[in-house]
Amino acid sequence: MTKSDIIIIGSGLGGLEVALMMAKEGRKVLVLERQHQAGGCMQSYRRGRLNFDTGLHYVGGLEEGGQLYDAFESLGLMTLPWKQMDADCFEEIHIGGRTFRWPQGKKRFINAMKSYFPDEEKGLDLYGELLDCTDELWMQKTNAWEYLTSIISDPLLLQVLSAPATCKMELRKETLPLFTYVHGIAPFIESSWRLAGDGNMLVSCLVEQIRAYGGEVLTDKDVVSLKEEDGRIVQALCADGTSYEADFFVSNAHPAVTCSLVGESALMKKVFRRRMGMQPNTFGIFTLHLQLRSGSLPYFNHNKLVFAEPDCWDMAVDKSLAVKGIMMSARIPEKGGNVVNIDILTPMLWEVVEEYDGTKLFHRPKAYKEMKARVAEQCLALAETVIPGLGEMILKTWSSTPLTYKDYNLTPEGSAFGFRKDFSNPMMTIVSPKTQIPNLFMTGQSLMLHGLHGVTMTAAYTCQEINQNTISE
Ligand SMILES: Cc1cc2nc3c(=O)[nH]c(=O)nc-3n(C[C@H](O)[C@H](O)[C@H](O)COP(=O)(O)OP(=O)(O)OC[C@H]3O[C@@H](n4cnc5c(N)ncnc54)[C@H](O)[C@@H]3O)c2cc1C
Repeated sequence: MTKSDIIIIGSGLGGLEVALMMAKEGRKVLVLERQHQAGGCMQSYRRGRLNFDTGLHYVGGLEEGGQLYDAFESLGLMTLPWKQMDADCFEEIHIGGRTFRWPQGKKRFINAMKSYFPDEEKGLDLYGELLDCTDELWMQKTNAWEYLTSIISDPLLLQVLSAPATCKMELRKETLPLFTYVHGIAPFIESSWRLAGDGNMLVSCLVEQIRAYGGEVLTDKDVVSLKEEDGRIVQALCADGTSYEADFFVSNAHPAVTCSLVGESALMKKVFRRRMGMQPNTFGIFTLHLQLRSGSLPYFNHNKLVFAEPDCWDMAVDKSLAVKGIMMSARIPEKGGNVVNIDILTPMLWEVVEEYDGTKLFHRPKAYKEMKARVAEQCLALAETVIPGLGEMILKTWSSTPLTYKDYNLTPEGSAFGFRKDFSNPMMTIVSPKTQIPNLFMTGQSLMLHGLHGVTMTAAYTCQEINQNTISE
């Protein structure tokens, strides 16, 4: 294969977006993906006659002028069949024995919260102002929990304002930056959307365009090392013995994995490798996929969030296997008005699955399967409190854990969102796409923000850095 301008290691959303942005600027790009299928967390998989998603349930800010609209429009992704969730209720939150419905649109949302918590009018006005300021430095240095408790005093309202974040970020009182919290909440309040189809549609849309602009995406290409010569990366070597050359390299793999691909290097300092390798990662996610009997449940165009206790901060499943809260998301039915598949998600710590690390996919030990069954049972018990009889409607179930994500995507500890951002450590709230090797860059959720919105912003940031550095060379 001839030399490329840019090789991108990994075809997650971040890798594909960087590839397309660069290809559109006239660069010859090559994406190398270790899995058989492109897309990383965006890929969907088939069981029986059904497709299930992994890391795509809903997206915020796709209305014209919304936070993600322009970026998705220029990436050709607005051609996909996005369907807006219920304007009056895109999140239905069951917590503390009450039900709260979040409408879309900032004003409507704040008014709805005021109707539930009339004594918190002043705090909610400040919360409304907060949702508008998304890119300010002070938010990176501010602790989300401390800020929220400084403007809101009702303990239940604090939980209600945090509940939809439980499967969208790691709600750790000690570390979560306000910047991460607001970016994970505000675009969805603007407007929330589901894809009428699966994540593979989004992946194919990006891959087809990369090819149309002269680039290539190769799967089954596990990059095992990056060869350095005279202070530059010159070659990506793959497990199958093939190697590929380029002028620039962008890694979409987790930063710790990226460092491990670079062997002895005079430029990549030990301290940098240690920082990338030692940074804690967020929790992973346990997902229970349900296939329902046809016609058993009408489609609901919102997420249902159910909490066992009125406390949704630090609620990931630990070794006790207690499930404290779930998010339920139904896929838009292809035909008719009834749900065919539902995903139930709950955060899960790596410690739950760590002892099974090294066992093979589809050949996990009995104890691992029993653990999954116990967690699934509790997820269903919580789900049944809001959908009575759900258990009777189920035809089949499948489940995945942080170990599944680790084995597929190589994400350390099966983390759902990569590096845990920490307001007290500004170097790790936003990590630069530049490495100490001048032609090696990074992209993806660990650097700045996660989710479709965050990874897209991060991809633009990576491209900006590549352009600045290639122009100045
Ligand atoms: C269960 C779950 C549900 C989610 N739901 C939503 C949601 O509803 N909405 C939302 O906005 N976000 C959601 N997210 C978050 C979102 O999916 C992620 O933030 C995003 O997809 C991450 O993209 P990425 O490009 O950073 O990384 P990844 O998707 O992890 O991609 C990295 C890619 O690099 C490849 N790779 C790694 N090492 C190598 C190597 N050595 N050689 C070649 N390839 C390599 C991997 O195989 C992978 O394909 C969810 C995440 C999870 C886990």
